[in-house]
Amino acid sequence: MRARVATVATILDDAGGALDEGIAIFFPSPHSYTGEAMLELQVHGSPVIARELVRALLACGARLATPGEFTRRAFLNGKIDLHSAAAVADIVDAETKAAARAALANLGGALAEKVHELRGCLSEMLQELAAAIDFPDEVVEPDRGAVFSRLDSIAGALERLRHDGEIGRLMREGLAVAIVGPPNAGKSSLLNALLGADRAIVSELPGTTRDTIEETITIDGVPIRLVDTAGIRTHADQIEAQGIERTQRALSAARIALVVIDGSQPVTPDAAVLLERTAGSDRIVFCNKADLGTAGARELEKAAPIVGSVRYAATLEALRGAIAQLGWAGEVLDVSRPHVVSLREFDAVNGAIEAIAHARNTLIAGDPLDFIASDLQRALSSLGHVSEQVAGEEVIDAIFCRFCIGK
Ligand code: GDP
Repeated sequence: MRARVATVATILDDAGGALDEGIAIFFPSPHSYTGEAMLELQVHGSPVIARELVRALLACGARLATPGEFTRRAFLNGKIDLHSAAAVADIVDAETKAAARAALANLGGALAEKVHELRGCLSEMLQELAAAIDFPDEVVEPDRGAVFSRLDSIAGALERLRHDGEIGRLMREGLAVAIVGPPNAGKSSLLNALLGADRAIVSELPGTTRDTIEETITIDGVPIRLVDTAGIRTHADQIEAQGIERTQRALSAARIALVVIDGSQPVTPDAAVLLERTAGSDRIVFCNKADLGTAGARELEKAAPIVGSVRYAATLEALRGAIAQLGWAGEVLDVSRPHVVSLREFDAVNGAIEAIAHARNTLIAGDPLDFIASDLQRALSSLGHVSEQVAGEEVIDAIFCRFCIGK
């Protein structure tokens, strides 16, 4: 069979019977995804044919790939670096289009390239400093102002990698918003209205007792997990204790509290307790039922509530805007640039930013050059961890165990 050429062939099963007319492509080593010799079979879309083909292959002695095995092999064979492997895991995981774009930005080693460039700048500066330190009579000391501004621009680039990394994390992991409030305030209605506006992803958290419901909407491409304590009706005598406990749990699991209150009525004592309890955290106070009146809303002016009704599109828009404001300061999110992803990468970039900040203070204080050189050395070695090729088994395992399919 010719290498890398699609060949039409009749695919036979293990007993010699024809299974399908399909296409076979042979990729000899090392020009394949994993670097090993690979045969790709393309058959017609029927799940029955695909299943029969897999069964026949297993009968011939093949075995199913374990989760992440193809990418693990690609990594172990030196075809991709660890960062790209993590990016593949992210693409497999990606819930929204924006998250998929964020993961794609890192494929192909874009982050490694950027870090390599910054390390290059740092080592060039280090060499200049070392020359001035070692040969003070022959080499003039570099201009401190110029050193300062070069460090400034490296720190700026590192901060961008970190900032974009935080946005990438938001895209991947989403943001939890707890919808809390007294019974009948309109929590379920709000959840349904928000979902109605964006039914893209609707899921119920599996495996939980039905005491909280989680639904996901997207705002600006960010998955927003709405944790709802409503929709579950308990017997009247259980409401108090269970309701309070549920609310507390939902609040502690969420980044933002969305407190829903019936704004048409004077503020009830339980609403007041809830407002007090959430006062110190990121929260949105929503005075609902404005179509019926605004007595409660007027009482709560100090809490800067959003006053409106789940029945008004403008109110829903205002609530979505308030979530975006609290979650990512309403910023336009761009994840097409390379960015840090793993904790190890965040740590490495943080270490470098900290070392450079120290170097800048040293410069301002007018301290000797070798102090600055030692800070730059620290920044350089911290950044080295981002593109580290030799990673511990546990790092590799942590990345590959995230895969749920053969890829
Ligand atoms: P929950 O117990 O907080 O989940 O409240 P529900 O969403 O079940 O709402 C309680 C009642 O208030 C229902 O009859 C809703 O139809 C009604 N309701 C909710 N929001 C509004 C609103 O903005 N205006 C009016 N007039 N009724 C509303």
